[in-house]
Amino acid sequence: MTYVPTPSVFDKVARKLRRFQNVRRLNFDIETPIISITFDDFPKSAVDIGAREMNARGLRGTFYTCAGLAGQTNHHGRLFDPEDLPRLEAAGHEIAGHTFDHMDCLTLSDAALERELSKNSATLKQMGVKQSVDNFAFPFGQNSAALKARLGAEFKSLRGITDGVHAGNADLNELKSCGFYSGTAGRVIKRIENLKARPAWITIFTHDIQDSPTQWGCTEVEFISLLDAAELSGARIMTIRDALKTLEADHD
Ligand SMILES: [Zn+2]
Repeated sequence: MTYVPTPSVFDKVARKLRRFQNVRRLNFDIETPIISITFDDFPKSAVDIGAREMNARGLRGTFYTCAGLAGQTNHHGRLFDPEDLPRLEAAGHEIAGHTFDHMDCLTLSDAALERELSKNSATLKQMGVKQSVDNFAFPFGQNSAALKARLGAEFKSLRGITDGVHAGNADLNELKSCGFYSGTAGRVIKRIENLKARPAWITIFTHDIQDSPTQWGCTEVEFISLLDAAELSGARIMTIRDALKTLEADHD
């Protein structure tokens, strides 16, 4: 069964408050927008189609990876193989963290969370990843003020799934991100088109890319339309790591 967290009313209030708690604010002033395209978990189709299309255009993305999902199959279809990681790295993509077993961090004790993080980094290394795992995305977007502080001390940034763009500043302990799915593709592309008028940093995430995608994925045609819109917008298309480097240089 696919795990989907079911937030209580308390959780919904906590989510609203979290925006103001344990914030690690990065201020910036950019004239050229930045788009970061990211993949979560990640399905084999994110490599076979996503990375292939990005490579063909000289673009790089961020792959938030759960090493424990390697070689498995779930509702997204077949997931990545360990051999995909060095190939992605060689092409310049970023490998980032997402826990070992794709765990809802809110359900983990401190010790279990620590194990999930260290096991993921160690296994990624065994699978041939040479870069350090500097950035992290919360599985299911599930986090808390305490997790923001705890994980914020370990990673350069933490990405959530709260929809939005970063205009002038970002909370590095919970980056906003726009889910690019068949159901949202048109809206996200509109946002990208609007970047010209108001330069901002936008992060985008998706999962499977296939003919009949899950509700958290898109088709190949939709993914290509995302890349077309991103290139047409004149934005710099960068991994999370490179976007942070660029924005930090603009830090006031
Ligand atoms: Zn995930």
